[in-house]
Amino acid sequence: MRRTSSTDTDLLKEAGEHVNTPSRPENIFGTKGAATDFFVAESYRPYQKETIEEIEAAFQQGFRYVVVDAPTGSGKSHLARALAFQANDAHILTIQKLLQDQYRRDFSDMFVMKGRNAYTCLQGELGSTCAEGPCRLKKQDPCFGCPYVRAKIKAAEAPVTVHNFDSFYYQNSFGSGFAGRKLMVIDEAHNISGKFSGFLSFTINSRGGITVPKAHKLADYDAFVRLAWTDYSVELQKLEEQHEYDGLSKDGLNRMRELSKLTHRMKRYLLEREKDNPAEYVFDYSEDGQWAPKVTFSPVFVGDYASRWLFGYGERILMMSATILDKDMFCKEIGLNAKEVYYITVPSSFPAAHRPIIKKYAGKMGYKDINGTLPSVVEYVQEIVDRYPNRKGIIQTHSEKIANYLKKFLDDPRYTFNKDYQTPQQMLYVHKKKPGSIIVASGLREGLDLRGDLSKIQVFCKIPYPSLGDKVVARKLELDASWYGWITTVMFVQSLGRSVRSSKERAVTYILDSGFGFFYTRNKRFIPKYIKEAIKW
Ligand code: SF4
Repeated sequence: MRRTSSTDTDLLKEAGEHVNTPSRPENIFGTKGAATDFFVAESYRPYQKETIEEIEAAFQQGFRYVVVDAPTGSGKSHLARALAFQANDAHILTIQKLLQDQYRRDFSDMFVMKGRNAYTCLQGELGSTCAEGPCRLKKQDPCFGCPYVRAKIKAAEAPVTVHNFDSFYYQNSFGSGFAGRKLMVIDEAHNISGKFSGFLSFTINSRGGITVPKAHKLADYDAFVRLAWTDYSVELQKLEEQHEYDGLSKDGLNRMRELSKLTHRMKRYLLEREKDNPAEYVFDYSEDGQWAPKVTFSPVFVGDYASRWLFGYGERILMMSATILDKDMFCKEIGLNAKEVYYITVPSSFPAAHRPIIKKYAGKMGYKDINGTLPSVVEYVQEIVDRYPNRKGIIQTHSEKIANYLKKFLDDPRYTFNKDYQTPQQMLYVHKKKPGSIIVASGLREGLDLRGDLSKIQVFCKIPYPSLGDKVVARKLELDASWYGWITTVMFVQSLGRSVRSSKERAVTYILDSGFGFFYTRNKRFIPKYIKEAIKW
């Protein structure tokens, strides 16, 4: 089989020859060649070639949606690249900006499009971004050579463009946006539902003429939300007119942006409430101490909106993640009929002996018992860390409470507390430099790549159950108890994947929460086989 390396591709392009030569048969995207012809790595990792062929076959069979559940380190970005260049007309969406940068590093032939704040304005104060340019304060034609506008033009013209989820959503919802493509690839697809929930939730604060009432059921808020929406829309219209004719201050611009998002979300909510069978929302009223009352509305399921808004940008959709874990559950989350989705599970090729999961129970970590167990957690963490004086690693606390407790009682310069840094990147910089550094973090389950020597020990203080204080979580649990087990397993498996990133790497994981056995028994059906094999019972 012939593989086209990026060097080959560049040479062909330079010679004015299109890489899709007429000698290859036409494929499902109307271009020439099999998807494997567009694979560019030196060699295939285990299962990679079969997976690319299976994805292509599923599209040929007529499936519009293909979901690939493949473990961390299995080379998903190369699958994305092969299919995207076969289509020669694709959007790739990543949830994390870090992953977007990884695509940029790995594939120089893709165009990476970011949000306005990633480009330097030619007109503003020194160092200001295109999110802060003078054109933002007063409506005007873009400057000649504006880096953001140029990037958008290039992104629209590039055969394969990599976006991050947030900038893609906001550019399409509030800007000129992007046209649909033959293929849309969504990496880290298990986050789709959470992302849309964030995009659709909104908070109304008591402010100006608006005072948030306390209500007991959603319907009691309908008239209030409508009135608030009218007030906000009037205020927004005034600001937009001022923006067009006189210009705005920075505060005015921020308020206009805030109102633009808020009214957009409220309108969606109001339209739902008018339907005979509206999408369900939950509300969370709070009047915290000195703060004026506020209320937050969040959709329980985002499926309908995700389907229309997201999947509308691709004729065919490829979704990839290490933690789909259950086809039906995933499809329900994003509003797809499971029968219309082709699902591929890729096994792990990393030896189980390289990534043992060892139980070293400090005690119960549930709500009622955690305070009594925390002193043992401190003791056990220190004991484990002392056992490996030269290894780097990570303590996954899974809650702020535990992270704060460890910060207070762990006294060893080896610890690098994530909360001491403004960004995970700054923390990582220190972790890389410091010998034997051990990261202590509460929420770094995704996007953190601790390959090589950066982490050989992982300690899980607690099973990462999502908080039941979150009204959406509580409602979903009420509707389907197995959903709670599934989402916890998603978070557990994501956390496990931070350290062993290739078949040659090794890391040991310790579980301190004695509730692990219960979690395992209840959620066995979601836990991938390759993880079950690594557990030392
Ligand atoms: S159009 Fe001009 S002022 Fe506006 S962001 Fe671009 S360079 Fe800056």
